[in-house]
Order: sequence, then C-alpha cells, then structure tokens
Amino acid sequence: MSGLNDQQRAAVTHLDTPLLVLAGAGSGKTRVITEKIAWMIDRDHYGASEIAAITFTNKAAKEMRQRVGQRIKRKRAEGLTICTFHSLGWQILRADPEACERRKGMSILDQHAAGDLVRELLPSGAKNDLVYAVMNGISRYKDAGLEPGHALAQARDDNDARAAEIYRDYQQRLVSLNAVDFDDLIALPAKLLEDPVIRTRWRRRLKYLLVDEYQDTSAAQYRLLRQLVGDVGAMTAVGDDDQSIYGWRGARPENLSGLKADYPNLRVVKLEQNYRSAGKILEAANAVIACNPHEFEKKLWSQHGPGEDIRVVEYADDTDESEGIARDILTLFHGGRARWGEMAVLYRSNFQARAIELQLRENGIPYVVSGGPSWFDAREIRDGLAYLRVLANPDDNPAFMRVINTPRRGFGSTAMARLATYADAVGKSLFEAGLDELFQNELPQPAARALRGFTNVLIDFSDRLERNGIGEAYRELLDHIGYIDWLIEQDDDPKKGERRKRNLDDLAGWIERLGEDCDSTEELIARVSLAAGPDDDRNEGADLVRLMTLHAAKGLEFKHVWLAGCEEGLLPHQRSIDDDQIEEERRLMYVGITRAERALTISYCQRRKRGGEMMSCEPSRFLDEMPETVVDWPSRHGAKETSSEDAKANIAALKALLEG
Ligand code: ATP
Ligand code: MG
Repeated sequence: MSGLNDQQRAAVTHLDTPLLVLAGAGSGKTRVITEKIAWMIDRDHYGASEIAAITFTNKAAKEMRQRVGQRIKRKRAEGLTICTFHSLGWQILRADPEACERRKGMSILDQHAAGDLVRELLPSGAKNDLVYAVMNGISRYKDAGLEPGHALAQARDDNDARAAEIYRDYQQRLVSLNAVDFDDLIALPAKLLEDPVIRTRWRRRLKYLLVDEYQDTSAAQYRLLRQLVGDVGAMTAVGDDDQSIYGWRGARPENLSGLKADYPNLRVVKLEQNYRSAGKILEAANAVIACNPHEFEKKLWSQHGPGEDIRVVEYADDTDESEGIARDILTLFHGGRARWGEMAVLYRSNFQARAIELQLRENGIPYVVSGGPSWFDAREIRDGLAYLRVLANPDDNPAFMRVINTPRRGFGSTAMARLATYADAVGKSLFEAGLDELFQNELPQPAARALRGFTNVLIDFSDRLERNGIGEAYRELLDHIGYIDWLIEQDDDPKKGERRKRNLDDLAGWIERLGEDCDSTEELIARVSLAAGPDDDRNEGADLVRLMTLHAAKGLEFKHVWLAGCEEGLLPHQRSIDDDQIEEERRLMYVGITRAERALTISYCQRRKRGGEMMSCEPSRFLDEMPETVVDWPSRHGAKETSSEDAKANIAALKALLEG
C-alpha cells in the first residue's frame, strides 16, 4: 500500500461498514479498488473467490484484472470476480435458468437481434425510429422492474396498453427462443435474487463487493446490488457525481446519496489529490465543473507542475480540423515525444469519427476506433457469430434464420415462412421443427434438401465441437460450408472481399484465444456476446492512437488528448440545449478534459457539414468557462485561422523533413 495517501489508505482498510469513496476525476478511486482487493486477499480478510469487483465496461474490467495481477500472485487471485454488471448478471442467470423460464444453453441477443425481434412484432414496414422507440420503452420497463402483467395493468391509455402488449409478446418470444437480451442480464437476476434460497446462496458466495463508477448505476443495477449486498453492506462503492453521463440511458446519480439512506452507517471518504493531470488541465476542469450546481463539494489539487497551456484551436471546417489533429499527432510521434498508444482523440458524436479516421489513415497513423459502430456490425462478423450461436444453441431462432440461407442454399423466404408457421403451430424451435420429416416432405424437393443439409451440418459440428474444441471446429465449419469463398464472390471489389476474409480470420483467432480461457462452449458464447456490447476491447494494449466518444472514454487516461468539435450544438449537444439539459453536457466536458495527463488540445470549426448541409458554428460555451490564465487561444482575439492549404503544406514539409 506504500504510495497511497492517507485518505486512500483509510478507504482501502475500512471494512466495518459500507464505504463510499466520493471524489473527482483522477484522484485514484479505481486505484483504491484494486489496492483494496489485493489488501483484502493478502490479509486474509476474504478469499479471492468471495470478492467481486464490478466495472462499467469490459475494457475497465480487463484493466482492473491486469492491475490486480501485478499486485498479487496469480494463485492467490484465483476465483476472483472482476467483471461488468452484465457479466455478473449472466453468471447469476445461468446458475438458475429454470427460475426465469430458460434452459441451459440460453443465448444473449445483441441489439441487432433484439431489434429484429421487435420488428417482427410491429406492423410490417415499421420505420427504424419506431423500432428504436419500442426497444427503448421495453428497456425502461425492465429497468423499472416492471413485468409485462404489471405494465399492462398500469397502462393509462391505449398507447400504453399497446406498448405493454408488445413488451409481453417480446418477452414470450425470448422465452421460447431460450434467449435473453442485454437488459434482462440485469433485470432478471435482480428479480431472481428475491428468492431467499437463491439469494442466500449468492450472498454466501460473494461476501464483498466493490463497484466502480457508481454514479452511473441504473435503477435495475441498484436493485441487483442491493440484493447481493443485503443489510450488512459489505461493499465499497466509488464514484463521482460530476462524471454522471448516462442519465439519458437511465443512470441515476441519486444512487450515490441513496446509499446514505440505505445504510445509515455508511462511511464516506473523499479524495482530493489528483494524480493524473498537469496543473493547468486540472484548473480548467475544476473551473468548468464549478458552473454546475453541486450537492457534494469537491476540491482537487495536484502536485504535478502547471504544465503547458491548454491549446484551443480554431479551424475552418472539419477536414481542416482532422488534418490539424493528424499533423499534431505526427509531430509528437516523430519527435519521440509520445507513442501512438499514448494519444487519444475524443469527440461527442460518433459521426465525427469519419473525418478524423480519414486523415489518420491518409497519414499512415495507426489507430483504432473504440465504442463506435464497430467490427461487430460487419456482415461477416454477424454471420460468423450467428453460426457460433446456433452451433451452441440450435434453438436460437434469430441466429438460425440469419444463417440458414447464408451462403445461399436454396432455402428462400417462402420456405422460411412455411417453416416459421409450422414451428409456431407445433410449438418447437425452427431447428427442431426443421428436423421433422412430416414437414420436410411437404416442402419442394430442393428446399427440403437444403433444410436437411443445414440441420445435418449443425448436428455434425455440434459433435465436433465437443470433440475438437471450439476454435478448430469453428474454422472447419466455415471451410466446410464454403462461407469464405461465397463471401469473396459477393463483393465486386476484391479488396473489400479480402478485408472481410481478414475480419473473419480475426474472429476465428479471437474465438480460439477465448476458448483457452473458457470451461464450456456456453461460457465462451456468453463472453463473445458480452464483448460484442458497446465497448469492444479486442485491441486493448496495442500501440494505436485511440479514437472514441467522450462516453467511451470514461475512466481512461492518455498522455495527450485532443477534444474535437467543441462547438455549440455538438458539445453541448443541440438536443440538450433544446431540452435545457446543459449540466450533463458539462459533465461530459469535464470527463473529456480530465482524461488528459500532460497535454490537451481543444478544437472547434467555423463551419461544419451536418446532414449534408454546411452550417456555421460557434465555439462551445464551455470554452469560455475555462480561465484565461490556463488556455492558449489565439483566435479568441481574432487571429488568423490556418487554412486547409496551409495545413497540407505543413504536413508535407514535416514528412519531407522526417523522411529526408
Ligand atoms: P476517474 O474518475 O477518471 O475514473 P479515478 O479517480 O478512478 O479517475 P485512477 O484512474 O484510479 O483515478 O487514478 C488516476 C491516476 O493516478 C492513475 O494513473 C493512478 O495509477 C494514479 N494514482 C492514483 N493514486 C495514486 C497515488 N497514491 N500515487 C501515485 N499515483 C496514483
Ligand atoms: Mg476510475
């Protein structure tokens, strides 16, 4: 524990009552969690298998595992749970699937598959907006712990009633598919733990809980925790109300103050020293967040020197901005001042990534976009994962439907509709119904042959999977069905085909690696499905420039940070301006500023293309909230902007210099 300050040490060693560590960014909250885990195990207060630490993202869980791994021997850490709420929920569910009307081998539906299911329940031709709205509504029911029956009973008008009916049908479908969606991974276990037998079992198993980013827990997550921790409150929660940025998704920062009501003996520890950022960065962050009203006062100070001014740069448009950022990155890298992986470009909205990506690629800068539309959205990956899911659980209808005619086997949509109707009538999954000879005989010959062929492949490969392990069986399967050749034929552009093939190779490699860590196929599929959530962490640790949204950056730190598009309408977002919800946007700005260790560059454009139209932009109001003494903002005083031509000339000159 050497190296911790007094408050941190107090937080680490406090076990008698529940503990809340409430502190600003970079003050070592997450560090307290890792140190505390190591300390509790070292001192034999709890065995590793009795402790669970819960993080907000897969990425954070991985990092925490690494940090704990450096502190205690592998053997002593065996059985320790460090995971997200979703994967903890999954472990609870899969121990008692019957208690929530599921069976062994249940699937986790990703957002796409859940969306497809919802679409089936809506009148044909329903627009995407409606599908999202319905999904949102279902999410909210689940977060509130409202089951379909209750939702129906509470409906105030026809619209409510219709929504509740769709919710009911959706849940019934999930049960018959032996599947759950992401929200169920929290809501169902919270409900399950109301059963005293199950609850006691889990409380005996997990005796101490630590929760990071507590300010962003949702109502359902709160219930889940409450059930696990019980009245004794063997728990450490760490959080920062100023970093609550998921209000739009149901997070409840009031869960922080709720802890005091739940546990009158709650101990609160505040941390005040920031270890992450240079002085000026911290000063700017403090000044910006001070503009929000505060329930808990926090002061942060730093022992680091003041560091450089925060650079605020004005650009003509987003191409110009992206070029400027690429140029900065090249200069730092080639000047030996930063590795690629020490630099990150952050932005408010996913669409901003495109322009930046383009410039990074053009300039040969290795990068990865995390948290955005991802690798997992590519067609070949979704097909590949559907094959994996249907192998493990042939009753997974959405996966079955996705791949039965991919590659094309002559089982078209008419045959599919007949199979679906038949399966419905006999109350079986598509797979089981498809095995039925009576049904097969009713189909035209080619379709029947295709169906038999497909079900045979599934049966055959489920066997091989048991015998040879998943990695090998999976590669053999893709080979056997000729998927890769088919994929390459689909694209006119051979480059695209090659890229898809590489993607699929990556997928197989990843599955192989995961397979080595997993005891069962079921666990592997669950890990794959959980990783395919919004924070894709496969590139963790690689030396690449990171591009991500502010939301995805929470909890992370980088030596050099660029915050792009600091404009009214973007950050703060127009929707939040219209709804008068600036405070959450300001917290996002605070999260962004506090990711930087040494240097921060903030930029905005004079014009930006949005929705196909060129719009003129104003610098974000948050820029004016930063003290003049810590920013270097030449154009604030009307200095000349650098033009796109200048930027290009600069890059060329720089490259020539470096290469020459
Ligand atoms: P955030 O609110 O952004 O999640 P945090 O409060 O969780 O931040 P950490 O990520 O735990 O902060 O710590 C920030 C940085 O400071 C890390 O690099 C961490 O290793 C370092 N740090 C924390 N405590 C100390 C300490 N006592 N001495 C030296 N470095 C420390
Ligand atoms: Mg943290």
